[in-house]
Amino acid sequence: MTGRLTIVGLGPGSAELLTPAASAALAAATDLVGYGPYLDRIPAGPASQRRHASDNRVELQRAQEALALAAAGQRVAVVSGGDPGIFAMAAAVLEAVESGEPAWRALPIDVVPGISAMQAASAEVGALLGHDFCAISLSDNLKPRAIIERRLKAALDADFVIAFYNPVSKARPDGLTAALDLARTIRSPQTPVVFARAVSRPDESIRIVTLAEAQSGMADMQTVVIIGSSATRLIAKADGSAWVLTPRSYEVPA
Ligand code: SAH
Repeated sequence: MTGRLTIVGLGPGSAELLTPAASAALAAATDLVGYGPYLDRIPAGPASQRRHASDNRVELQRAQEALALAAAGQRVAVVSGGDPGIFAMAAAVLEAVESGEPAWRALPIDVVPGISAMQAASAEVGALLGHDFCAISLSDNLKPRAIIERRLKAALDADFVIAFYNPVSKARPDGLTAALDLARTIRSPQTPVVFARAVSRPDESIRIVTLAEAQSGMADMQTVVIIGSSATRLIAKADGSAWVLTPRSYEVPA
């Protein structure tokens, strides 16, 4: 049997947001490798399919394990939530290839994209990512805090809509507070901020607040927090709730 490795995006959670290509890649795998809660989302495959669950923090080790299995002839699917190319396993696998066994470079390695949390969140509220945007991970596990601050300041100055991934953790309770405080020095207090938690899952909750009201306690590690640009605004619905719109054309703020 010829081994191969496919890095599969599971989307934000709901089975309906898993692409047919991702489903096919999962069904074709002899071995599934990933963080335990992601593996738990995948319906049972063939009886012979094996699951290798790991902790969330050991991405490089997990990637090496998956590559070793593929090199031994298995058809391996490595899974990530959302899109595997966004703060996830596609980069971990290629990092492992870069520093690993020369034989791994001969393996067929494919990436199957998925719907990322920011896309699902934007869709839930309307058109929050309707114009230029960027994504910043607030996790300082893999990068210095100074870089987070520099990028955040630049993104705020450039008036991007900004999606924060990994917004809070026990190790970093104050990262989001610092980010919101910095945003408040640059953007209007009325700027819409969306806290989208567990999007597309049964426990989904979406909160739309102003930048003045936004607080770190509104987010956990299952939340993507998106700050609007100066052009982002609410469109009132007849029932009193609102869509969030970032229009396609940039209107210079008055
Ligand atoms: N590859 C993933 C992101 C992994 S980083 C993607 O493309 O979505 C993990 C972070 O993603 C979480 O801390 C949270 O900020 C965000 N996230 C993942 N799934 C989410 C969901 N269903 N709802 C809201 N945020 C989510």
